[in-house]
Amino acid sequence: MPARSPLPDDPLAGELDAFVRQHRLAERGRELDRTPEFPRAEFRAMGEAGWLGLTTSAAAGGRALPPSRAGVLLHRLAYRAGTVFAKLALQPEFSSVLAEHGSPTLREHWVLPLAAGRRLVGNQLTEPAAGSDAQRLELVARREGDSYLLNGTKTEVAFAEEAEAAIVYGRVGDDATQGITAFLVPQDLRGVERHRTATDLGERWQRRGTVAYHDVRLPADHRLGEEGRGFEYVRPELTRERALLAAIYLGVGRASWEEVVAYVGARSAFGRTLSGHEAVAFPLVEDGARLEAAWLYVERALRRLENGEEVDAEAALAKWMATEVALRAIDHAIQFHGGRGYSAELPHEQRWRDVRSGAIAHGPSEVMHLIAARALWPRGG
Ligand SMILES: Cc1cc2nc3c(=O)[nH]c(=O)nc-3n(C[C@H](O)[C@H](O)[C@H](O)COP(=O)(O)OP(=O)(O)OC[C@H]3O[C@@H](n4cnc5c(N)ncnc54)[C@H](O)[C@@H]3O)c2cc1C
Repeated sequence: MPARSPLPDDPLAGELDAFVRQHRLAERGRELDRTPEFPRAEFRAMGEAGWLGLTTSAAAGGRALPPSRAGVLLHRLAYRAGTVFAKLALQPEFSSVLAEHGSPTLREHWVLPLAAGRRLVGNQLTEPAAGSDAQRLELVARREGDSYLLNGTKTEVAFAEEAEAAIVYGRVGDDATQGITAFLVPQDLRGVERHRTATDLGERWQRRGTVAYHDVRLPADHRLGEEGRGFEYVRPELTRERALLAAIYLGVGRASWEEVVAYVGARSAFGRTLSGHEAVAFPLVEDGARLEAAWLYVERALRRLENGEEVDAEAALAKWMATEVALRAIDHAIQFHGGRGYSAELPHEQRWRDVRSGAIAHGPSEVMHLIAARALWPRGG
């Protein structure tokens, strides 16, 4: 049977639904598309109510839920209110390298305030000459006594002007063969220059931009973990976040699918309901089945993750699959709503633009395939 399955449930679902209603998150998500800004008030409210960092440990201020439960709740949040607040909920997860490898002082200063929605920590990996191929990062952190001197540029980064601090990846010294190192860099240090760049297709609230580091002196105790081990630290974070992002994209796809299924059952053209035309009904039947199949795939990846299994490839494929399946379903929702479907009067066009980022952000779909291919042929093709 195609996906007429009920929205996955959780003991916290009622509380979450009430929070969404109380803070008008669905409406706010649409407003933030028209007037892009970082939603400070909602971020704070989410922190106070415990909606930031669902899988983050209690010591780091999170709810410490198993990933499969977090997936259900994020799916639900995205279904009710689009991607904005579901992604906001993941900000502590995006900073796990800080929580797990920062000094006790850094943790106290940044980790708990982040989960409480009082301080925003960005992630800065991408550079003008290196994004997917992150081994080629050029930002250099040169050790000088008890500090590092940072020089380089990060680009495409979310919250370029809003984040109070950022986890910045670079290399120590000029040796390109040496591994990448992670740092926590307060963004008000002298020599940090940041500005927002172009307006994005979707996810506009993230206000992406460029951050340049000109001889920025960073205390050495702001290094996260050991030199050269940044990738090793961030890898499990990327796997977890890709699987959870997949749950979010499917929630958005589900919302559009349900709405268009209801619409075509009521709207008539050429003497019968739109659902009476096979050219309309069959793609929607397929979308329902695809959404359901992808959800089962994502759910299994999340369960395997919480059992401590290796799911790098599965999480990568989950993000790719969820993005594709959701985008196709939303595209059909635009199409079968006709002229209004193409307009901002209905939520589908924004949903399409927001979900479209999933094929690029947190690793492009092609790189997700590369990860899966490496798992299939570990010694090369
Ligand atoms: C909404 C959004 C938010 C983002 N937020 C952040 C952030 O907060 N911090 C941050 O550091 N970055 C962020 N990014 C940047 C994002 O991580 C990078 O854009 C992404 O990793 C790709 O890097 P790139 O842009 O340099 O593309 P490139 O690496 O130059 O790749 C360009 C394209 O080439 C293709 N490609 C690349 N490698 C391969 C390959 N091996 N095989 C086949 N095809 C390939 C892919 O289609 C890819 O999209 C964000 C991006 C988006 C869209």
